[in-house]
Amino acid sequence: MTNYRKRPTDLARLATHAAKDRGHDLGFWHWAAPGDPWGDRRPAGGRIYGRARCLDCRAEAYIDNKPEPNGIDISGEAVAVACKGSAK
Ligand SMILES: [Zn+2]
Repeated sequence: MTNYRKRPTDLARLATHAAKDRGHDLGFWHWAAPGDPWGDRRPAGGRIYGRARCLDCRAEAYIDNKPEPNGIDISGEAVAVACKGSAK
């Protein structure tokens, strides 16, 4: 059930911690909303997507503050698998 609200910034913080636990070092978060392109600015309200990429291995983390009923609010390789470190 997703009849609760989570703030995008809280989700981004949780995702950043989860990624760090796996050894990733996430860069800046980028934001989008349905119909809006990805950018540095976080939309004020409604459904908001966020994504950030590990500076070492390029794995991504995603957040969605209003996921579909069968969806998840935090996802991506950076919160699922360990950091592979700098590609070399
Ligand atoms: Zn990484």
